[in-house]
Amino acid sequence: MSTAVVVGSGPNGLAAAIRLAQAGLAVTVVEAHDRPGGGTRTSELTLPGLLHDDCAAFHPTGVASPFFASLGLERHGLRWLWPEVDLAHPLDDGRAGIATRDLVSSAASLGADATAWTRMLGPAVRHFDDLIAEVLQPVVHVPRHPVTLGRFGAKALLPATVLARRFRDAPARALFTGVAAHKFGRLDLPLSASVGLMLGASAHAVGWPVAEGGTESITRALLAELASYDGRVVTGVRVASLAQLDELAGGRPDVVVLDTAPAGVLDIVGDRLPARVRRALSRYSYGPAAFKVDLAIEGDIPWTSPDCRRAGTLHLGGSAAEIATVEAATVRGEMPERPFVLLGQQYLCDPARSSGSTNPVYAYAHVPHRYDGDATDAVLAQIERFAPGFRERVLAVSTRDPAALEAHNANYVGGDISAGANTARQIAFRPRISLSPYALGVDGVYLCSSATPPGAGVHGMGGFHAAEAALARLR
Ligand SMILES: Cc1cc2nc3c(=O)[nH]c(=O)nc-3n(C[C@H](O)[C@H](O)[C@H](O)COP(=O)(O)OP(=O)(O)OC[C@H]3O[C@@H](n4cnc5c(N)ncnc54)[C@H](O)[C@@H]3O)c2cc1C
Repeated sequence: MSTAVVVGSGPNGLAAAIRLAQAGLAVTVVEAHDRPGGGTRTSELTLPGLLHDDCAAFHPTGVASPFFASLGLERHGLRWLWPEVDLAHPLDDGRAGIATRDLVSSAASLGADATAWTRMLGPAVRHFDDLIAEVLQPVVHVPRHPVTLGRFGAKALLPATVLARRFRDAPARALFTGVAAHKFGRLDLPLSASVGLMLGASAHAVGWPVAEGGTESITRALLAELASYDGRVVTGVRVASLAQLDELAGGRPDVVVLDTAPAGVLDIVGDRLPARVRRALSRYSYGPAAFKVDLAIEGDIPWTSPDCRRAGTLHLGGSAAEIATVEAATVRGEMPERPFVLLGQQYLCDPARSSGSTNPVYAYAHVPHRYDGDATDAVLAQIERFAPGFRERVLAVSTRDPAALEAHNANYVGGDISAGANTARQIAFRPRISLSPYALGVDGVYLCSSATPPGAGVHGMGGFHAAEAALARLR
């Protein structure tokens, strides 16, 4: 029987492990943390009984992932729950742009921009299944839906700031720009619209659901699936070399898959990497960071806009121009006074995460790479800006700065939660320009983390494709 070791138990690592186990390999997953899951964990971060997602919270890519869908994870208790409003973007004048699973009513709520919004996102929404299958794989591939991909690509190549100008009014401009800001980078550069278009279309096509009981339910379901193939998981072991894996697998494994950042690859594979691969991975760039703030609050957030009181995700950053300016500042290494903040009210559709009338609120700000200041106040001020009186409801606060995020998960180098900057080059080719992005140039050793295509997000597709590459080589 062939053997495989997967280093790291994030969604990509577990997806790779399952795919290899399905093909009949004896698989061992080795995880540094004492709990598996990587970016898909849930903890009581503030008060007992309140469930906070440690990292990933909303799952458009999870619910749309072809590999997750093929596994039938519902058999292992995974249930998606949708908020009434998937996304809201409040403005200073009390208005808000919103996105729901109904494109028609979402567009209508944008008033003067209803037609422009439908024209921009409608084609991607209508062909979402075809498009997501194209997008969740390496950029260089033979497309099965060339027309759909071509139409999407023509807009996706543009800067987000250029596409935002197609809207006349502030809510639609801000709504689109806030979604594009998931890129964690400059929004005036080519390809920055791709993130806004794909995530924006996903809000209307599949929604931005949460996992019942917390994101960790995804991990539990993946672990149950792996166990059904007798896959093994070892926790609390940080892998530092390939030699260490021989011991863990009881001999040299036929396949090694690394769910690590390129920095982890350099540590683990080191001198065995071909010089060209080592050079490319040493030059791989990391982007701005997240500063996480979890809160326990009494009751609900007193948003000025009623739409925000029904929303799972909120983007707090004001106008499109303001967001583009602060995102550019974080890339330059400057901490903005009013950073872009993403806020989650998962408890609205998953009330079991709360305790009585005390609710868990999830937020993080975009801050510069390795930012070592305290952004807590800036985050609270952004919430207060759109929900006056909010601070009085705060019962407890838990924060994680970029250093703490990296300590929690080595893949978040300098606090970069995408495991690599989303520059145009690294959106198109990560971790390096290659026709086989998962191969590391060492026989049997592959990379599967979000530093590979299709990039960050809980979808397991990097793991699936890396496992397929390994299986093709074994055959
Ligand atoms: C604050 C935050 C918010 C986010 N929000 C969302 C969201 O709402 N929706 C979404 O889809 N995505 C979100 N993400 C991103 C998402 O979590 C990641 O893209 C995803 O988890 C990447 O999966 P992965 O398997 O590549 O790596 P990870 O989930 O990062 O897992 C990697 C695992 O490898 C382990 N590891 C690393 N090095 C070693 C080593 N040397 N030895 C042993 N183990 C090792 C780590 O401990 C970790 O468990 C968020 C991330 C953060 C931090």
